[in-house]
Amino acid sequence: MQRPAVIRKSPAELPVTPNLTDYEATRAAFSWETARAELGGLPGGALNIAWEAVDRHVAAGRGSHVAFRFLARDRVPLELSYAELARQSNRFANVLRGLGIGRGERVFVLAGRIPELYVAVLGSLKLGAVVSPLFSAFGPEPIATRINLGAGRVLITTGSLYRRKVERWRAQLSSVEHVLLIADEQDEQRSGGAPAGTHDLHALMAVAAEEFEVERTAADDMALLHFTSGTTGAPKGAVHVHEAAVTHWATGRYALDLHAADVFWCTADPGWVTGTSYGIIAPLLHGVTSVVDSEEFDAERWYAILEAQQVSVWYTAPTAIRMLMKIGPDLRAAYRFPDLRFVASVGEPLNPEAVWWGAEVLGLPIHDNWWQTETGGIMIANLPAFDIKPGSMGRPLPGVEACIVHRDEQTGALTVIDTPDEEGELALRRGWPSMFRAYLHNEERYRKCFAGDLYLTGDLARRDADGYYWFVGRADDVIKSAGHLIGPFEVESVLMEHGAVAEAGVIGKPDPVVGEMVKAFVSLKRGYSWNEALRKELLGHARKKLGAAVAPKEIDCLPALPRTRSGKIMRRLLKARELGLPEGDTSTLEEGAK
Ligand code: ATP
Ligand code: MG
Repeated sequence: MQRPAVIRKSPAELPVTPNLTDYEATRAAFSWETARAELGGLPGGALNIAWEAVDRHVAAGRGSHVAFRFLARDRVPLELSYAELARQSNRFANVLRGLGIGRGERVFVLAGRIPELYVAVLGSLKLGAVVSPLFSAFGPEPIATRINLGAGRVLITTGSLYRRKVERWRAQLSSVEHVLLIADEQDEQRSGGAPAGTHDLHALMAVAAEEFEVERTAADDMALLHFTSGTTGAPKGAVHVHEAAVTHWATGRYALDLHAADVFWCTADPGWVTGTSYGIIAPLLHGVTSVVDSEEFDAERWYAILEAQQVSVWYTAPTAIRMLMKIGPDLRAAYRFPDLRFVASVGEPLNPEAVWWGAEVLGLPIHDNWWQTETGGIMIANLPAFDIKPGSMGRPLPGVEACIVHRDEQTGALTVIDTPDEEGELALRRGWPSMFRAYLHNEERYRKCFAGDLYLTGDLARRDADGYYWFVGRADDVIKSAGHLIGPFEVESVLMEHGAVAEAGVIGKPDPVVGEMVKAFVSLKRGYSWNEALRKELLGHARKKLGAAVAPKEIDCLPALPRTRSGKIMRRLLKARELGLPEGDTSTLEEGAK
C-alpha cells in the first residue's frame, strides 16, 4: 500500500499537552546543569540514583503513590508504593551493610521481573554499591562470565535459579562471597532452609532496620554495570555512574513524555539496559506508576494488560511489535485501551510498516527512538508533538548533539559531514551524563570509541534536511556490493511491506564478481506458506522498489530469524550459518535458535 512519507500530528488534539512542544526553543534553553538542579541531589553536591528515584518523592509527600504494580500469571497484582519501596530498599541496603558490603562493591541480581529484583537494585544503589542485573534466562556459562568479569561479591537470586544455574558452578565464581536467595514456591515445598553457603534473603530482610541514610555518592561514582546485547560479538560490560539519572530524568520527560499521573509500561527486562534505565529509573524519577509483568511475550496477555492496567505510556521493542503484526489485527479488536496515549520503541530499526501498523491497528503511531547500552539513555527520538517520518529514528533530544562523520580508513582522520542525506557513522558530542565511562577491563576498546570530543557509535546513519536521522545499519552489517554501500535496514523494510513477510534479515554474501551479494532471509506471517511463486514474487517486489543493484538476489525462508534474547535479529549469525563459519559468541542467542 502506498502511504504518505509523513504522519502529521496536531499537538492541540493530543489528550495531554506534551512536555516538549517547541523543539528548537527547548534545545536552546536546555542545559544538563539545569536538569541536574531539577533533581536536587543530596547535601554537599552528592547524587544518588536511588534517593532521587524513591526517597525524594517520599520527602515531597508522594509516598503513598504506587511506584510499581507487579503482575504475574494466576496472582493478584502486587502494588508497592513509593514509601514501601523506600522502606524495603532501606532494609536491603542494611542487609548488604550487615554482610560487610560497602561502596563500589559489585552486586549481581539474577531474577525474573519480581519485586525483589527492583528492591535489590535500588537498595544496592543506596549503599553506593555497583549493581548489575542479569537476564534470568541466561545459562550457567554466560552468568559466570559476567559475574567474573565484574568481580561480583554478592549474588541475589531465586532458589530455583540458584539450583539450576549457579550451585554446580559456584567454585568458578571465586569473587562471590555471599549468595542471597529469594525463596520461591519450590523452596517452600522443601524443608531444611536455604542451601549450604547461601542466606535466606527474606529472613535477613525481616530483621533488618527500616531506616537507612543513603550514601552520599558522587555524581561520577560507578553505579551500574550493563552488558551489551551481544548482537555483533561478545557482550561488553559498560560502566555507568550515578549522574546517569540526569539523562534518565530529562529523557523520561521529553522522549517518553512522562507526567506524574501516567501508568507506564516498559516491557524490557532489567537484564538489558532499557529495562533498568526505563524499566526502573526514569519512571521512578518522574514519580509515575510502572507496570511490571513477570511473564514472557504473549499477544493476548499484552493487549489485556494495556486494557486492564489502563496503561497510558508504553515503551516496547520492534520485535514485540512485529510479533503483534504477525498475529493480525483481529485479536487487537477484542480489546479497548483508550488511556493509551503514547507508544515508543527501541532496540532495533523500526520498519515504516510497523509505524503505520501502530497508527492503523493500535490507533497510535509508534515512536522510534535510538540509543545504546553505551549511551545509557535515549539520544535520538520521535516525540509526541512532532510529525513522524516513518523509518526515521527522529531527532536528537535536548542536550544531545549528534552528527554524521566519515572516518578515513588509512589515517583515521574524521570529517564531520554537513551535507544532508549523506551516509556516514553516527557520532555524539560527549558530555551527556549517562555516557558510559568504561568497557570493563577493556580500556583499549573504550578509547577507540572516541575521537576528540566525539563518541563514535558504530552505527551508520544519515540526517535529512529537516534534522531527522535515518538508520542505515550497523557498521559491521553494511553490505558492499558492486561499489554501492547497502544498509540492510532499507532492504528489510521493503520486504516487510509485502503482506506475507513477518520479519526480514539481510546479509552480504561474498561474491567473486560484485564483492558482496545481497541475500535476504524472511519469516512469514500466519496463514502464508513458502513456495517458489512467493519467492519470485518477493524478489520481484524488492527489485521494483529498490532497483536491481540493491535488491536481494537470493531469498530464503526460515521459521523464525535468530535473535538475541532482547529480540534483535542477529545478522552475523545468519551470515555465519550461510557461509558455514563458526557462530562466535552465542551467549545471548534466544532459546530455540541454536
Ligand atoms: P553488541 O554491542 O554487544 O553487539 P548491541 O549493539 O545490540 O550489542 P545494545 O547496546 O543493546 O547492544 O544495542 C544498541 C544498538 O541497537 C545500536 O547501536 C543500534 O545498532 C541498535 N538500535 C537501537 N535502537 C535502534 C533504533 N531505534 N534504530 C536502529 N537501530 C537501533
Ligand atoms: Mg553495540
